[in-house]
Amino acid sequence: GKGAAMVTAVAYRTAVQQAERKRILDTLRLSREQLLEVKERMTSAMLKGLSKQTHQQASVKMLPSFVRSTPNGTEHGDFLALDLGGSSFRVLLVRVRAGTKHNVNMSQKIYSIPQEIMQGTGEELFNHIVSCMADFLEYKGMKGVSLPLGFTFSFPCYQNKLDEGILLKWTKGFKASGCVDQDVVTLLKEAVRRRGEFDLSFVAVVNDTVGTMMTCGYEDPQCEVGLIVGTGTNVCYMEEMRNIERIEGDEGLMCVNMEWGAFGEHGELDDFCTNFDCIVDETSAFPGKQRYEKMISGMYLGEIVRNVLIEFTNKGLLYRGKDIERLKTRGIFETKFLSQIESDRLAMRQVRSILQRLGLTGSTCDDSVFFSSIMQETLHDLAPQCKVSFHKSEDGSGKGAALITAVACRVQQEQPE
Ligand code: BGC
Ligand code: MG
Repeated sequence: GKGAAMVTAVAYRTAVQQAERKRILDTLRLSREQLLEVKERMTSAMLKGLSKQTHQQASVKMLPSFVRSTPNGTEHGDFLALDLGGSSFRVLLVRVRAGTKHNVNMSQKIYSIPQEIMQGTGEELFNHIVSCMADFLEYKGMKGVSLPLGFTFSFPCYQNKLDEGILLKWTKGFKASGCVDQDVVTLLKEAVRRRGEFDLSFVAVVNDTVGTMMTCGYEDPQCEVGLIVGTGTNVCYMEEMRNIERIEGDEGLMCVNMEWGAFGEHGELDDFCTNFDCIVDETSAFPGKQRYEKMISGMYLGEIVRNVLIEFTNKGLLYRGKDIERLKTRGIFETKFLSQIESDRLAMRQVRSILQRLGLTGSTCDDSVFFSSIMQETLHDLAPQCKVSFHKSEDGSGKGAALITAVACRVQQEQPE
């Protein structure tokens, strides 16, 4: 009768809507051929960054990190570490004891960086960092000490030595003025001097990828790649010196900070970008910059999701076609919110069951596990000749910076002046 016809019509419309949602979501997925093409283009961007002649025009900068040696177990002492550039800002005290390996003790405190400081002047930013350090030292009962510092500074920097970092550009929502083209060690030391409460005897500048690699390398000397997929994304790896043309010397290895987040700044990803990627880029703080990062990392994932949902709503594929005003607010899906969903199992289950009912996902397995198994599978498929095993690094970047500082201090002491 009539009722049955109506049910059929509803079922039909639901199926059509689901197919349309799937079609839109499929544009976000790259085929195997497309992935291989991205790999090709990434490889040539890497070569461009390494070569003296083409470096200037390269999107992927391949920055030498001046990290060459790994801990040998004889380093020891107390080190401070700063971790700036991820979802939280941390100050750490790292105690390294000589002899047996894995003898590292850490304590830390997390501080916030208010939006207005992130986007104020460099002087305000570094004053804030130094006041957090002073607070931390007091909290540890170490007021007024002078220690070496491992500064995990997770932004692209030119380095001519370990204790220098000339900021190339800000990423990830940082915008403090007067810092680009400046040495962040100098900026930090000036702020320390202004405060006049404590001193830093040595400051090593370390990218978070490099710190992470070093931490894993402390446990497994075979480890020679560091990967971060967090607020931003980036990779470092041990490269042969002779391939690093901009640095004198052909012997041995040096860790290269790729800064692959900038890939695509020269149009390398244009034919893989969806409309969503373009909108996210255009409405970001630095349009045209960090295109690869904007397609991948946590800082922008929420915005991609929000724009997909807007498109669904506009096409009547969601919320029964109702226009949801709140969806139009930029940044409403904060990274924080997404990672809260990730860490909150109940919320995760709810989100997943909603998504499933909407036909947006077929998977039910645990996301962290999920991510690394996809990575491993895809890697094996795209580079079958490489044997790669993954180690998850917990809290790797601060500890790694301290270890790098410890090695530098040991080497310094070993060298007669
Ligand atoms: C920065 C890199 C950093 C990465 C992950 C990017 O935005 O440019 O230096 O390693 O984020 O934190
Ligand atoms: Mg060389």
